[in-house]
This record gives sequence, structure tokens and C-alpha cells, in this order.
Amino acid sequence: MIDRAEIVRQLVGWFDAYARDLPWRHGDPWAVMVSEFMLQQTPVARVLPVWAAWVERWPTPALLAAEPTGEAVLAWGRLGYPRRALWLHASATAIAERQDGQVPDTVDELRALPGVGDYTAAAIACFAFGAHVPVLDTNVRRVLTRLEVAQAAPPAHLTNAERARAQEFTDAAAELAPRWAAAVMEFGALVCLARRPDCASCPVADTCAWRIAGYPASPRTAPAQRWHGSDRQCRGILLDIIRTNPDGVPVEMLFDAWHSLPQAKACLVGLMADGLVHRSGDRVTL
Ligand code: SF4
Repeated sequence: MIDRAEIVRQLVGWFDAYARDLPWRHGDPWAVMVSEFMLQQTPVARVLPVWAAWVERWPTPALLAAEPTGEAVLAWGRLGYPRRALWLHASATAIAERQDGQVPDTVDELRALPGVGDYTAAAIACFAFGAHVPVLDTNVRRVLTRLEVAQAAPPAHLTNAERARAQEFTDAAAELAPRWAAAVMEFGALVCLARRPDCASCPVADTCAWRIAGYPASPRTAPAQRWHGSDRQCRGILLDIIRTNPDGVPVEMLFDAWHSLPQAKACLVGLMADGLVHRSGDRVTL
């Protein structure tokens, strides 16, 4: 029988000794919220400078809400998935209008904000307010799967069994629950890596079911979607051109920037439909 409370103690001890000193860990709830939006699909190293500039310029949700959405998209820079900038702006507006400017502290209230899903709501509630809730990102899911299920990677989609397992760890953590959430996430990001876990430095190696079983391979999963030539790449290139030309860009210039005219047209329509850019005559602006 796995001793979850002991695993919690070990990994929280590891966290206290080896965790990165990330600035949002000392920030207020808004700073934590901004970091969680940015970190959803972007690595820490790329988020750090953009996050710092963002919270310096907009230290409260109300200050961001008072600016046009184009400023948020511009400040988002090249973090990717720029719809997150619009969602963060929309969340800031909702907080300013409905929450008296204060980031809400419950999962349900957070979940009601634009662009805030189950993961982000749990992460903000836990990391900003110390809520005792599981926070299940890819890294956490991988660590818990290896520890208890003896598989290299979790299923493609989050399952109820994973949710139940994560809740049991949170319950076992008791008063350590918020630190446990941060610890297991950090451990997955730094030690229990997807491709090359550093089991030699792992404080819970003795109880890891995957290691004990001899590291069985996971069933093959579908290959990652190709990026080169994709709509994502095309949208990113168009948005970069628009972002670096604050007075607007002729549409023809955008269409010339991509090898496929139909794809460039479709991507521009998509960017407009998402509210990321605006067209007036033959010019496009943020
Ligand atoms: S023993 Fe290796 S695979 Fe298992 S939890 Fe530790 S680092 Fe991860």
C-alpha cells in the first residue's frame, strides 16, 4: 500500500530545497493569475520577461481593463496562443466590474471568468489563496501516474480515476496541500521529466511503481500535430507583422508574407473573428 502522506512529505522537502525562485510565487493573486494564463502553453523561461513587464504596467486587473484589448495583444508579444491575452483582458474587466477589482478566491467564482478552465481555476485558488484543491497539469499527471499506475505517461485525456487519485494525495497532504500542489508540479517539471526522468535524484524512487516495474513503455500515442505550414504558424506570422506595425498593415502585405494565399486569407479571417485584429478598408490593426 502506497504511503501518500510520506510521498507528500518527501516531495515537499525536495521542493523546499530545490524549487526555482519564480517571481509569481511571491506575487499577489493578480500576479499569480497572470502567470497562470501565460504558463498554460508557454515555457517558464519565455514567460518570465513578459510576465514582469505585464504586472509592472498593469499591477491590478482594473488598470488592464481600462486599456484597449489591442494593448493586451501587443504586450503578449510572442508567447503564442494570443487569444489568452484577450481572455485575460476580459477576465480583468469582469473582475473590475463584478468583483470590486479583487481576484476571486474560490474555484467556482474563478471558473466563471472568461478563459478560466478547471486547471487555471484550481491553480489560482491554490497558489494565490492556499485552497486545498488538486492542481492537475501535465507534469503532475505524469508524476502521479508513474508513482501509482506504473505507466510512463497518463492517458491522453484527464480521467475520473486521475482526479480521484489527485484528491487522495491532496487529502493525505492535509495542511501541506498548497505546498504539495506546487511541489509535485515543480518535481514533474525539473526531475520526473517526460523523456529522461532523473530517478537517481528522486526522493520517492523507492516507492515509484513505474521504476519498480522496470519502466514499461506506454502504448504509442498519436504523433504531435505538425507545426510547419500549419494555420498556427501562419496566424503567428500575420500577427507578428501586425503587432510590429502599430499604424496598421495593408492586407496585401500580409498575404505576401505566406506561401498560400487561401490559407493566409482564412487565417486573417480567423484572427478577425477571434477579435485579435481589426480590418478597416485595406488596412489591418490590432
Ligand atoms: S523514480 Fe523516476 S520515474 Fe519514478 S517518480 Fe522518481 S523520477 Fe519519476
